Amino acid sequence: MKVAIYNSGTQESKRLKRMIMQGLAKENIPYDEERPELVISIGGDGTLLSAFNHYEDQLDQIRFVGMHTGHLGFYTDWRTFEVFDLIESLKADTGQSVSYPLLDIDAKYSDGTHQKFIALNESTIKDTLKTMVCDVYVNSELFERFRGDGLCISTPTGSTAYNKSVGGAIMDPKIIGFQLSEMASLNNRVFRTLGSPIIFGADAVLTLRLDDDSTAVLSCDRTQIELGQVRHLTELTYSVAKQQIHFAKYQHTDFWRRVKASFIGGEA
Ligand code: NAD
Repeated sequence: MKVAIYNSGTQESKRLKRMIMQGLAKENIPYDEERPELVISIGGDGTLLSAFNHYEDQLDQIRFVGMHTGHLGFYTDWRTFEVFDLIESLKADTGQSVSYPLLDIDAKYSDGTHQKFIALNESTIKDTLKTMVCDVYVNSELFERFRGDGLCISTPTGSTAYNKSVGGAIMDPKIIGFQLSEMASLNNRVFRTLGSPIIFGADAVLTLRLDDDSTAVLSCDRTQIELGQVRHLTELTYSVAKQQIHFAKYQHTDFWRRVKASFIGGEA
């Protein structure tokens, strides 16, 4: 099994990387950053999101392991003092994994081009200059006309991130689907949206059609998508991605224990 380490760049993460590299060399476990089968992310959830983004073309071949250098994260459940336990787990690896759904995003632009993205946490569409207006289609049928700050479309594992901050529900990551949450929708006698988050199933397709003068900005996890001077977004299509993210199942803290530890308190 070929291993790669993706670290956040802090002194602590560099120190841990050196320790793990020594352990790998001692056990004759090959290191390969180009075509790894297991990626160890050292840092926080943000580091794992970057590692995911870095290796998103190879998701079928890779399992991830997250080690956190700060607080327990949602994707990072190994603690820094468990480096030697991690090497032992790598030696005893049987290829077991736990997999979670991802979000597929297809963005169309006014110049006729389009781009595809894949999100581990979420994609947002927001307008900071004026009210964002878009028609929301569910499975090709017009559902509502949204007016407000923006919309957040999250994966089940991303439901505890931005989605939670905007009032979305936490989704059990065993559910294959995705969630739509509103950001400050305008609701009065003239404008009307559903006003509550929606959880879509595995086959649903959500389409957002933006107005011609839209200045809305698209994000995918940590990245804001550059639009350039001449083009604007016209349509976004969201669905459950064909790919999934796989985590090595050596020591994977139960999702609901993690939710409790992060938001309510107590040990994970
Ligand atoms: P960051 O440094 O701003 O940290 C955001 C926080 O979100 C960190 O505490 C991180 O641990 C946490 N986080 C990330 N993924 C999570 C998940 N799946 N469940 C629970 N918490 C999670 O940004 P970053 O570290 O680069 O992370 C990017 C993420 O930040 C985005 O994907 C988005 O979910 C989140 N974010 C949240 C808000 C908000 O809540 N208002 C705003 C912008 C971005």
